[in-house]
Amino acid sequence: MKQSSMFIPTLREVPADADIKSHQLLLRAGFIRQTASGVYSYLPLGKKVLQKVENIVREEMNNAGAVELFMPALQQSELWQESGRWYTYGPELMRMKDRHDRDFALGATHEEVITSLVRDEVKSYKRLPLTLYQIQTKFRDEKRPRFGLLRGREFIMKDAYSFHATKESLDEMYDKLFTAYSNVFRRCGLNFRAVIADSGAMGGKDTHEFMVLSDVGEDTIAYSDTSDYAANIEMAPVVTSYQKSGETLAELQKVYTENQKTIEEVSSFLDISAEKCIKSLLFKIDEKPVLVLVRGDHEVNDIKLKNLFEASIVELASAEETKEIIGATVGSIGPVNTKIEIVADEAIKAVVNGVCGANEEDYHFINVNPERDFKVQYADLRFILEGDPSPDGNGTITFAKGIEVGHVFKLGTRYSEAMNATFLDENGRAQAMIMGCYGIGVSRTMAAIAEQFNDEQGLLWPKNVTPFDVHLLAINMKDENQASLAEEIYSSLKNDRFDVLMDDRQERPGVKFADSELIGLPVRITVGKKAAEGIVEVKIRKTGEMQEVHKDELAQTIQTIIDSL
Ligand code: ATP
Ligand code: MG
Repeated sequence: MKQSSMFIPTLREVPADADIKSHQLLLRAGFIRQTASGVYSYLPLGKKVLQKVENIVREEMNNAGAVELFMPALQQSELWQESGRWYTYGPELMRMKDRHDRDFALGATHEEVITSLVRDEVKSYKRLPLTLYQIQTKFRDEKRPRFGLLRGREFIMKDAYSFHATKESLDEMYDKLFTAYSNVFRRCGLNFRAVIADSGAMGGKDTHEFMVLSDVGEDTIAYSDTSDYAANIEMAPVVTSYQKSGETLAELQKVYTENQKTIEEVSSFLDISAEKCIKSLLFKIDEKPVLVLVRGDHEVNDIKLKNLFEASIVELASAEETKEIIGATVGSIGPVNTKIEIVADEAIKAVVNGVCGANEEDYHFINVNPERDFKVQYADLRFILEGDPSPDGNGTITFAKGIEVGHVFKLGTRYSEAMNATFLDENGRAQAMIMGCYGIGVSRTMAAIAEQFNDEQGLLWPKNVTPFDVHLLAINMKDENQASLAEEIYSSLKNDRFDVLMDDRQERPGVKFADSELIGLPVRITVGKKAAEGIVEVKIRKTGEMQEVHKDELAQTIQTIIDSL
């Protein structure tokens, strides 16, 4: 492709509202333009990258046995009413009315459409399993669209849905797609982890998120420094074994602690370590009050709490509720002499002669000993911390930030039951189909690649997703030798199946070089002073390495470079 006939509007300045690298560079290098908050056009270079990512996704999905289809973005409200999500999805769902005043939504996701489609067409176990996918535009009116393509209101997703007669069949597809997703992100060149994610009541192994490691990520991942264990921070179990000190149990004592509320205040006022403080928090677990205890230096993980009680709603009681239920304010509550159910994190078991609130304003107990002074049930209830042992027994936990680019999830019968998607089993009995759903944020993946691959000068596209393989430029297109050699190389490389972008513009060399660095194709060929001898300069964008190459050896040299990347 000739650059003069492309549409690559590069920018010298960093756009004011773009605060992360990928957003800045995709705008500056002319890959995308914003039309409204969270809504983007993909310019020709951006579209090429998107297409490459899509093709990798397609190959891997097809290879796993999934079949492509295409569903409408415009969805009638009746489907969403059937699943119940018309009422629960909230303002993220873009809703609208047609000319007959009927309610519609722009698809945020397609469980409803696909479940109704399959329900109407598939009646027998003989037609299962069935895995369908599409690559399509999704609409979500995000509260905070930001970071360019990372969180848009209109974005491109690959979404797949599988339908099964048995749980084993779902497990099998889940594993295949798990592998397919790993292949996709590896082929995109990304440094990523598949992390155990929260699946609500379904338990840990039934959902994974694929996270690209990046400081701009919104999720925290806890991963092992030696194995491939990785989990969303709220999902990682704590397997630390706590040692009880040999201290003798002292007598429980109430002490006056005027105005000392927080763990910091109490521990410094009483001159004891935070590890000896018992942090007591009043939660409402499906409306029932429960006192939750963790060590002063730990934090309660409410997802663990929710899973322990198999609850739907877990929330911290407000200051007023705490006062009403316990009769003391938030900083003075504790487990001694209370009738409320108490659960404690495992670490509390090892507390000897600890400190806790006395359920009386401005008083704390010292020399508190669990079991002796209050009855309690133990469970793993705290957030994992860096330095804790990895739950798989290998290595130590480290934290990293991640961008979620993919999600695989065992849905079970959530939608098939609500929408009556049944099949007849071998015995002629109607059963709800067992489902899985699997998403990849295709446009988000493109941004995540840009976020992971850039330097001071611009982007650094990995070879499998680069918009072109080679950037060819002549320093002076008015020079006969240079112009004709550039044209000759352009045609011969194209014949050799390289995808070449040729900068044939009448621009100053400085402008051409700067644009070339910004766009970030893996290899640059510069035709300059030695054109008459058939010699050009080849530069590897990633390393900056340069070499002079004769035109006859060019194809071979470029192939070797690309293979090495
Ligand atoms: P997030 O927690 O980031 O909002 P999600 O849990 O809502 O993501 P899913 O509903 O699982 O996301 O969607 C599947 C994939 O679509 C995600 O893994 C992500 O890669 C992508 N995605 C979700 N929301 C957006 C968005 N607003 N912009 C771009 N991509 C998105
Ligand atoms: Mg979301």
